[in-house]
Amino acid sequence: MSIHFPKVGHKEPKAIGLMGGTFDPIHIGHLVTAEEARQQFNLDCVIFIPAGNPPHKNSSKLTDREHRYLMTLLAVANNPYFTLSRIELDKEEPSYTIDTVREFYQKFQGKAKIYFITGADAVLDIITWKDYRELLSMCSFIAATRPGYSLTKLKVLLGPAFSEIIPRIHLLEIPAMAISSTYLRRKVAAGKTIKYLTPASVEQYIYKNRLYHQE
Ligand code: ATP
Ligand code: MG
Repeated sequence: MSIHFPKVGHKEPKAIGLMGGTFDPIHIGHLVTAEEARQQFNLDCVIFIPAGNPPHKNSSKLTDREHRYLMTLLAVANNPYFTLSRIELDKEEPSYTIDTVREFYQKFQGKAKIYFITGADAVLDIITWKDYRELLSMCSFIAATRPGYSLTKLKVLLGPAFSEIIPRIHLLEIPAMAISSTYLRRKVAAGKTIKYLTPASVEQYIYKNRLYHQE
């Protein structure tokens, strides 16, 4: 696995953020979250990891992976701290977060701290993820709170698992981030603009390739 770290150069990174997602399409919610996480947690870089065939989503409904890869590339291109990885895209079989994180963990031999950046909604599911205990031993989580998600809610929903996983979860408040890819797809399908919801380059890419349009 080769990863280019634009800002890190030749020095060993000390802390990296991984941001997994289907990015169908990538939007400012993802980008603001990644940038906030980078600043607040002193990350050397954030690596976006578009999913190939995610185990939790019906992959037949996903936009072609190369489109999702290129939109993510366009979105991260002008941030020197952002990069992206094809680690999941280049696999035919579904990727589990544990497998992806393990590869990064082995690459950095435990020398760089790994943060997995995710929406707080996903944190609720962690205990259902494959080998989540091993996962929590290799990385901690930065959980972006979307409106309506709080630590109290997390506590109620997680029950006994709360005390086990909470030391590995850092909550990150992202103001007014109710934006989702679903919202963007619906807007495009309805013939409405998605200006400012995603970088202009991604917006143009969507129109050029007629993604999400209702035939
Ligand atoms: P969809 O509507 O298709 O589910 P999505 O907007 O949730 O798309 P994903 O690619 O599924 O985007 O999400 C990737 C990661 O980004 C997940 O961890 C998700 O929780 C997080 N995320 C998505 N939208 C936001 C947002 N607005 N603010 C913070 N995190 C977000
Ligand atoms: Mg989602």
